[in-house]
Amino acid sequence: MRLIFLLFLCISIISCNNMKKVDLIITNAKIYTVDSNFSIVQSIAVSDGIIMATGTNDEILKQYNSENRIDLEGKTILPGLYDAHCHFLGYGLNKIKRADLYESKSVEEAISRLKEFSEKYQNEWLEGRGWDQNLWTSKSFPTKEMLDSVFPDIPVYLIRVDGHAAWVNSKALELCNINAQAKVEGGKIVEANGIPTGILLDNAMELVRKHIPEPTLAMKEKALLSAQDDCFAVGLTSVADAGLQPDEILLIDSLQKSGKLKMRIYAMLEVNNQNIEWLKKIQKIITPSLSFRSVKLYADGALGSRGALLLEPYSDDISNIGIRVLDNDFFEKVCEFAIEKGFQVNTHAIGDSAVRTVLNTYSKYLKTKNDLRWRIEHCQVVNKSDFDLFGKYSIIPSVQPTHATSDMGWAEQRLGNERINGAYAYKKLLEQNGWIANGSDFPIENINPFFGIYAAVTRKNADGKPENGFMSENALDLKQAIRATTIWATKAAFEENEKGSLEVGKYADFIVIDNDILNIPESEIFKIKVIMTFVSGKKVFAK
Ligand SMILES: [Zn+2]
Repeated sequence: MRLIFLLFLCISIISCNNMKKVDLIITNAKIYTVDSNFSIVQSIAVSDGIIMATGTNDEILKQYNSENRIDLEGKTILPGLYDAHCHFLGYGLNKIKRADLYESKSVEEAISRLKEFSEKYQNEWLEGRGWDQNLWTSKSFPTKEMLDSVFPDIPVYLIRVDGHAAWVNSKALELCNINAQAKVEGGKIVEANGIPTGILLDNAMELVRKHIPEPTLAMKEKALLSAQDDCFAVGLTSVADAGLQPDEILLIDSLQKSGKLKMRIYAMLEVNNQNIEWLKKIQKIITPSLSFRSVKLYADGALGSRGALLLEPYSDDISNIGIRVLDNDFFEKVCEFAIEKGFQVNTHAIGDSAVRTVLNTYSKYLKTKNDLRWRIEHCQVVNKSDFDLFGKYSIIPSVQPTHATSDMGWAEQRLGNERINGAYAYKKLLEQNGWIANGSDFPIENINPFFGIYAAVTRKNADGKPENGFMSENALDLKQAIRATTIWATKAAFEENEKGSLEVGKYADFIVIDNDILNIPESEIFKIKVIMTFVSGKKVFAK
C-alpha cells in the first residue's frame, strides 16, 4: 500500500514537473478564435499577456497549470473587439466636458442634470449638449433667467440637439460682451425688448464658444480614462482614433507606458500645415499598445447636412453638390510625404465625388496592387464605375454599418433612387479586396460594437425596421461582420500578427459574452452583453 502511494507520488511529481506554469487558464468555454477557419476551442492558456496555447480542456490541462483558473461553464468568448473608426478622445471629452441633456423632458430636468454634472466635474465653464425644447411642455426656447437663478457665477453654454442653437446664461453673455444689437453674418442673437434672451443661433454661437478654454492635458487624461472604461464595458479592447493632435498622441503613449491606459490605440494624426512640420521630425511609433503610422484627411462633409461632395446635385436640393474640403495640392503633398515616410493615408470621403477624387489621387501614388493599406474612411456613396478601383489599388474601405441604419430614413431623398444603389454598399466594398474594416464613428453613433455587427448583418435598426432590411443585398454575413470588427480591423492597421484572433503568440485580448453570437436569432445580436473583458490576459472589466 505504502509502495503504491510512493509510486503515485513520484508519478504526480514527474507529471507536475512537466506541466508548464502559466498566468491564466480558461476552461469550459466556447471560444471563437476567429482564425482563418473560424475554429472553436474550449480552453486557453495565457502567460505574460500572450496566448500560449488553445485547445480542448484536456489538451490544455495536461500541459499547463495555473493558480488562476477560470471555469466559464460553457460561456462564449470572442477576441477583444476593435472599432476601426471612432473618436475615442472626443467621446471622453464630450463625457467629461459636456453634461448630457439629451431627451430631458423639461427645463427642470435639464437643470437638475446640469447641477449634478457641475458638482462632479467642476469645470471652468459649464457646458452641455442635447437639449430640445420640442420635448418640453411650453415648446418655446428657454431663457437665460432659467439658468441664472441656479448658476449665477459660472458661465453656461448649452448646445441644442441639432448643434444649431446655444442656450447661455447672463454670466456667459457678460464675459463675452454680447449685446443684442450686434449683427452676425449667418447667425442671430435672439432678443426681447433689445436684450438678449440667452439663445444664440448658428454663427452667433461662435461669439461665446470661442471664449471657452481648450481642454487642458489634465482634462484629456481624464477623458481618455473615462472613454476606456466605457469601451471595456462593451467589449472594445482596441480602437482607431480618427483624428488626433500631436500632443494627444504623445499623451496617449505616456499614459499607456505608465500603465494607466490599457486600451490599445491606432492613432491617426489629423494633418494640416502645422502638423506636417511636426510629422517631419518624428518617426512611426509602434508599441504593444499604440500604432502611430497614419494621417487623417477630410475630403468632404456629411450627407445629413448636405456637405457630402456629390458628382451630381442633391436630389432634394438641385442647386447643391456639397462641399469640397480638401485642397488638391495639399492632398498630393501629404500623399507624397506618406509614401516617403511609410505612413498610411486615411481620408474621410462620403459623397461619390469625394470618393472618386480620393481613389484617383491615391492611385497616382499607389500605382498598382500593393500592401500599403491606404484607407478611405466611410465610403458612403460610391459611383458604380468606381468600385473596382478599391481592388485595383488595394485601397481599404473603412465603413460604419450603423450609419446605414441611422441614415436610411432620408438617404434616398438626398441621393435619388438610382444613386442610392451605390450607397452603404458594404458587401460590394468587401468584395473588392476580400476584406473590410468595421467601425462606428462613436460618439456620432453608439459606442457598442454589437450594434455595428447587428446593423451590418440585418441592415435593420433596433426596432427591427425595415422588416426586410435596408438594401439588404449589401448585408454582410455574421462571420464577415465579426472578422471586420476583429481581425480585419487589425489588418487595416497592420496589427494582424499581434491581435484580432485568439491564436498562439498573440495578445490575450478577449471578451466573455452572455450569449452564443453564432447561435442566436439575428435580432438578438445587439442585445449581447459583455460579462468580462481581458487585455493582455488581465481582467479589465467584469459585470
Ligand atoms: Zn469620424
